[in-house]
Amino acid sequence: MEPATAVATSVAAQTPRRISILGATGSIGCSTLDLIGRDPQRYDVVALTALNNADQLARQAIEHDADLAVLGDPDGYQDLKAALSGTNVEAAAGPDALVEAAERPADWTMAAIMGCAGLRPTLKAVEQGRCLALANKECLVSAGDLFMKAVSRSGTQLLPVDSEHSAAFQAIDPGISDTIEKISLTASGGPFRTWTHEQMKTATPQDALKHPTWSMGKKLTIDSATLMNKGLELIEAFHLFPVEAGQLDVVIHPQSIVHCLVEYADGSVLAQMSSPDMRTPIAYSLAWPERMWAPTERLDLAKIGSLEFESPDKERFPALSLTQDAMQADNGTTTVLNAANEIAVEAFLEGKIGFPAITALVMDTIDAAMRDGISKPDTLDDVFLLDEVSRGLAQSLLSDKS
Ligand code: NDP
Repeated sequence: MEPATAVATSVAAQTPRRISILGATGSIGCSTLDLIGRDPQRYDVVALTALNNADQLARQAIEHDADLAVLGDPDGYQDLKAALSGTNVEAAAGPDALVEAAERPADWTMAAIMGCAGLRPTLKAVEQGRCLALANKECLVSAGDLFMKAVSRSGTQLLPVDSEHSAAFQAIDPGISDTIEKISLTASGGPFRTWTHEQMKTATPQDALKHPTWSMGKKLTIDSATLMNKGLELIEAFHLFPVEAGQLDVVIHPQSIVHCLVEYADGSVLAQMSSPDMRTPIAYSLAWPERMWAPTERLDLAKIGSLEFESPDKERFPALSLTQDAMQADNGTTTVLNAANEIAVEAFLEGKIGFPAITALVMDTIDAAMRDGISKPDTLDDVFLLDEVSRGLAQSLLSDKS
């Protein structure tokens, strides 16, 4: 039950914190607004963005009294303007407007745009040098080194939102990070954890969208079914935490209660647990370095009884080895992998390819890119170019398959 004051700890009444949410209409964006809306006097909503969902964005902007609402798709501008007429919310649309939204001074920005499309606006938010709650893992997969350099240049406080990375962030004491031996990210195993390879050949988008524990956007739910998501998370962890690629691994944990395990040199393993609800890691990033109340189901371990763990099956889920190889290669392959995966997931959701073809298309695109010759991107323009070229390669391989 919600305590009399929504904030259980000592988050004292202060000037409202200026908050922006990039990707406000998505799963993470809505969960963030759910938390903010429970204690509105503590927050001053600056900018909310979406791609083309004008109605929902306008509703959110009005409800949370935002200064600015922005659509990434310029064609949605008239709809957004009409939905906001008679209010004080400013409307804008287009890729440049997204970047301008991210530049508006905010104390805390949630980066929750889906995909590599989030990179440019998220980097603009980083340049502000304040707090960035990072849900968009693609920033780190596509441009990890450059992104982390921008973070350190600006002095931004990066707060990981992915549940596993939030868990690791909570379990790692930066003062003794050289004593970490291993970080294990947990994975639910997705809807096909117990399916055979033959069964997976017949999997439909509806089957793949039935995630057993988490409620997420469609792209991420499909990534969880292929285990590509866990691979992307390994790359994310590699950039976020002071460990080598070989110190990161994955353990399947179907209940999604333990989110990450950090093992230290003395054999101690620190883990973080919570019920599978993204409002817990979002609340952690929102209140950091304090804690706030979150409306999530409390864990009853006696009722749960037992927690299960198993090794991932890398043969049935080749995306895991693929991402690990790409991470080790450190030559731009992760940028190609992310771009190809975005194309492949979209093609699967549109019924153009079968489930196993998602990872196969990513592999083929990486092979084709290697044959053409790729090198590690040195600048952001290099990243955007490699992303674009890789999408083109994936699309042409997709047409060949079709
Ligand atoms: P959703 O698909 O639910 O939402 C994506 C959001 O981004 C929407 O607001 C969407 O707008 C907007 N968007 C999509 N494409 C673009 C674009 N090209 N330009 C501008 N805005 C765009 O995604 P999730 O909330 O599930 O995930 C968001 C990010 O958070 C991803 O990077 C994901 O990996 C990460 N994440 C998500 C978790 C989850 O539980 N959902 C957990 C951990 C990480 P519109 O509604 O108009 O399409």
